[in-house]
Amino acid sequence: MKIAIFGAGQLAMMMIQAVHQKKHEFIVVDPSTRPPASHYTEHMQADYDDSTIIKEIGENFDIATIDFENVSVKAMRELEKYIPVHPSSHALDICQDRLKEKNLFRKLNINTTEYYEINDLDDLKKNLNKNKHYILKSRRFGYDGKNQYRIKPDIEIKTDLIKQDCILEELVDFEAEVSLICVKATNGDVYYYPLVENHHKNGILSMSRYPSNYTFLQNKAQDIAEKLLEAMNYIGVLVIEFFVNSNKELVANEMAPRVHNSGHWTIEGSSLSQFSAHIDAISGSHDYKKSITFKPSVMFNILSKHITNEKAEALKSKFDISLHDYHKAERMNRKLGHLTFTCENKKELDINIKEIAEVIQ
Ligand code: AMP
Repeated sequence: MKIAIFGAGQLAMMMIQAVHQKKHEFIVVDPSTRPPASHYTEHMQADYDDSTIIKEIGENFDIATIDFENVSVKAMRELEKYIPVHPSSHALDICQDRLKEKNLFRKLNINTTEYYEINDLDDLKKNLNKNKHYILKSRRFGYDGKNQYRIKPDIEIKTDLIKQDCILEELVDFEAEVSLICVKATNGDVYYYPLVENHHKNGILSMSRYPSNYTFLQNKAQDIAEKLLEAMNYIGVLVIEFFVNSNKELVANEMAPRVHNSGHWTIEGSSLSQFSAHIDAISGSHDYKKSITFKPSVMFNILSKHITNEKAEALKSKFDISLHDYHKAERMNRKLGHLTFTCENKKELDINIKEIAEVIQ
């Protein structure tokens, strides 16, 4: 099949790497110069809403997908007049806006934190309760902890964020963060991966591990996912991020309408990586009857600075690790690559996580 991917970052790169042998033909569209996926396939350097490009792709490709959720919804609506876009412009429209996303959770009776629509300072003042902690987030373009501001009782609020449309969330006192990777194929078949446990530093994912300590929440997470997939008429990989609160209940935080950083471990840790799963689902070549297997795994993001060759060699000589390089220049808090360690049992995973983390951090 001829598949166009909007966004040519590491996610597009890993989709292409995952299914190379199946001989799909890929093109990536991205305004930046030499993005990660351009090392593996043809790159159209253009804005995502360039109408000439949309027409050209619509006339020459079979399906389109994304590696970046903030592509123009209007452009994807235009493209849908020619070819299927997975996930659809409707799903993107919801997932691009934290308010629409939370309103959908509320409509479907999915547990989420208390939140308020904030359009100006008056809205903010009106909704703050003096004794509570909050987090103010821009409705759009917030990722990796960007465009977020924490509000503590009795501390003066100093932020420009309020100039944008925002959402105010009560801070959740969570004991863990978990995510559920779901995939729905064009014929309606659905597969749910086991819950992954995630750790963040400064709002950026630093580590994901499977198995999580919350396997008892798997069915509840799947029930929530089923409602969301249905409500958005969703096709492809959808990732739902949850907090686990002090009562060990799931509190939905946000959704990613794409393959996700918390699923990178599935490349080595599963017989079906999230990247293959996404491309198979949207191209109609999935097979969830085949048993899908998993190995205890941990994924660490490599942020800001590349890992030195000496460190990489030292790790490889001792552990079963795989290093992924995104071909990016170093920059503060930029995701430059990741490392996955897989092993035979959970005990081995628990023993080795700390040592690996110390070497790379
Ligand atoms: P987000 O961009 O919404 O995923 O936020 C990034 C990270 O900030 C999350 O993974 C949490 O660690 C933290 N965070 C975001 N929203 C909340 C909240 N309402 N309560 C507590 N922590 C939060």
